[in-house]
Amino acid sequence: MTACTICPRTSPDGQHLCLVHSGELRGWLTELPAQARLLEQFLVPSVQPSQGRIGGTGRAHSPIPVDIRVLVLLGPGRLDDTPDPDDDGTAPILAILDAWAGHITYHHPSATRDRQGVAYVRPCEQARPRHGATITGWCHWLTAYLPFALTLPLAADLHRELGDLVRRLRNLTHSTPSHHPRAAPCPACDLCTLVKTDGRWHIHCLDCGHQMTPDDYDQHAARYLAQGQAATAA
Ligand SMILES: [Zn+2]
Ligand SMILES: [Zn+2]
Repeated sequence: MTACTICPRTSPDGQHLCLVHSGELRGWLTELPAQARLLEQFLVPSVQPSQGRIGGTGRAHSPIPVDIRVLVLLGPGRLDDTPDPDDDGTAPILAILDAWAGHITYHHPSATRDRQGVAYVRPCEQARPRHGATITGWCHWLTAYLPFALTLPLAADLHRELGDLVRRLRNLTHSTPSHHPRAAPCPACDLCTLVKTDGRWHIHCLDCGHQMTPDDYDQHAARYLAQGQAATAA
C-alpha cells in the first residue's frame, strides 16, 4: 500500500491515486463525451432563420452569438497552437486528451526485436485510439491505459487537468451527473455511501472508492437484508 498523492487515503500497490480518485478519473472519462455532445447543441441555433430577407435591408437576422469558449473547447488543434495570454485557460478538449495520451504513450514501454532477435524496450512512439482521434476515441483510449497511467507520478496532474476540464464543461452545460444512493452499506468500509452515478456502470462508494457491478451489489444487498432479518428474528 502506498499513499494517494491527492488525499490521506492509501492507494493500491504501485499506484499513485486511491480508489476514490482513480474512480473519479474513470467517471470523468465516461462523462466527457456526453458533456461534449451537450456542448455541440450550443452550436445549433435553436431558431432556424426563415428563408429570404425581411424588409429588403439585405440582412435577415443578426448572427446568433456563440460563446467563444464553446468554439474553443470543441475546436481541433494542439495545445501548443493555442497560446493566448488573455484567455481564461480554455483549451480544446481534443488537444487536452491528445496531449495526455502523448504523455502516457511516451512512458509506456514498447518491446521490439531487431533482425538478430535482440529485444529492446523503448517508449511507444504514438498513441492510436481504436475508435478514431475523436473525444470519444481518446476517452476510450485513456480509460484503457488508466491502470498504467496510475503507476506514473503524473497521475495527480491528469486528475487535476481532467477535473478542471469537466468542471468547465459542467459550468457551461449546467449538467452534472446525479448520485443515486443505494440502501446497503459498503462491504469495504461499512458506511452507507454506495451510489449509482448517472453514466457510470459500476455501483461505487463515495467514501472509500470501492466499486462493484450492479449484479454484485444486488447479491450483497440481498445477503445484507437476510442478515438483518435473521438478527431481528433471533
Ligand atoms: Zn485520494
Ligand atoms: Zn466504502
